[in-house]
Amino acid sequence: MLKLYNTLTKKVEEFKPINPPSVGMYTCGPTVYDYTHIGHLRTYVGNDILRRILEANEYQVKHVMNITDVGHLVSDRDSGEDKMEKGAKQFGKSVWEVAKFFEDYFFRSQDTLNIKRPNVIAKATDHVEEQIKLIKKLEKNGFTYITDQAIYFDITKFPTYTKLSGQRLEEKEIGARSDVVVDKQKKNPQDFALWFFIVGHFKDHVMRWSSPWGEGFPGWHIECSAMAMEYLGDSIDIHTGGVDHIPVHHTNEIAQSEAATGKPFVKYWVHHEFLLVDGEKMSKSKKNFYRIDEIIQKGFDPIALRYLFLTAHYRDKLNFTWKSLQAAQNALNNLRNEIRQWEVPIRLSGQSKDNVGQFWQKFLDAANNDLNMPQAVAVVWEMIASDATISSKGWILLDMDKILGLRLDEYFGKPIEVPENVMKLVEQREQVRKSGDFEKADKLRKEIKSLGFEIEDTPTGPNVKTVVN
Ligand code: AMP
Ligand code: ZN
Repeated sequence: MLKLYNTLTKKVEEFKPINPPSVGMYTCGPTVYDYTHIGHLRTYVGNDILRRILEANEYQVKHVMNITDVGHLVSDRDSGEDKMEKGAKQFGKSVWEVAKFFEDYFFRSQDTLNIKRPNVIAKATDHVEEQIKLIKKLEKNGFTYITDQAIYFDITKFPTYTKLSGQRLEEKEIGARSDVVVDKQKKNPQDFALWFFIVGHFKDHVMRWSSPWGEGFPGWHIECSAMAMEYLGDSIDIHTGGVDHIPVHHTNEIAQSEAATGKPFVKYWVHHEFLLVDGEKMSKSKKNFYRIDEIIQKGFDPIALRYLFLTAHYRDKLNFTWKSLQAAQNALNNLRNEIRQWEVPIRLSGQSKDNVGQFWQKFLDAANNDLNMPQAVAVVWEMIASDATISSKGWILLDMDKILGLRLDEYFGKPIEVPENVMKLVEQREQVRKSGDFEKADKLRKEIKSLGFEIEDTPTGPNVKTVVN
């Protein structure tokens, strides 16, 4: 039985989808005006793990993700510079080129981490019609007002506006006031724009569409409501995103969706905690982020980053350090080296009653317990160390890897091919070691390591393993 922490109820709840075995899951996608960093990747690996766990529980998942390619403002609060135009200026490209370039970069980064592609990828610029339709509905239901600059959602018309964040409105008000509120005609600081007109600050806005209210462009929040409901219906099972989206973006999504349909928008809200660097949030604006290319350039396997993410619970902050990545890489190497010595698993009928079945159950129970992946990973190691047969361990590990996503299937039965020059050094080291010249033996070990191999001394002789870094 799968249990999930629901931000809306602030409790761990039993997962009961609206129409089992179907599950509709919506994920807020990237704003494609800059490079994807490993902080984003933590959130998307988290979504991927959730989806794989749902699939392991035999749900039929329809996963929808948007791409925010309409220009949006640097601040959530309708003020400041347009992100896409800022990106275009910085990189000397058109806004459309910027969006395409960073979208491609986003998916390349996702692929290196073995993140499954969503079933539907919806671009905001391809769904302006749907957004206009939703705004018209909100207008008809009496939730909007118009100023010279924009159409706003009036949050006082939606009494449960802060139900997701649990914040008091006064707290939000203080936050919003410290920002530059550019539209003096706005009624409440928390009201948010549904549609901007091409006037004043935005008179040169490049991305623009015609609408019943004249030329303009949609606000950020409306795109997710419009696209989530377009592909998954008025009420959806799971909506995911990073914790930063709770107080503004997701709060606004609920308000505008429920105001339009009168139905509950999302049953389970799942939020991922941040990846930090040196104790601070890793973010595009702070420029303290790493990209997956930098991880690869330093000689790490991107899957080691996925392994690192698995070692922390998704609702806990994770502080990224190179040392922790190295530890994850070592653990991954050990796992791969172990199964290199195993034959490719063949599933025999009746084998599930073997004593490895208990490990699968423990693993799934951990994963189902609000995605306790650190515990699930511990079960993997427990099973490897157990005295079950290699063949039965092998196929259970393959099942586990359907959730872990570490591409372990590529390593079964593939012993390392040690080049002749390395083998000669290994033999030489063994001789000097036996003769008691440990200093020389140590030098040779270092030389071997610099060639990408590591020696493990065992009672039956030296065992050679590959090493990264
Ligand atoms: P953005 O492109 O900024 O809208 O971010 C895309 C997703 O990545 C959102 O769900 C964010 O909450 C999430 N995100 C951004 N920064 C981080 C971080 N440092 N750690 C984890 N998730 C993040
Ligand atoms: Zn969103």
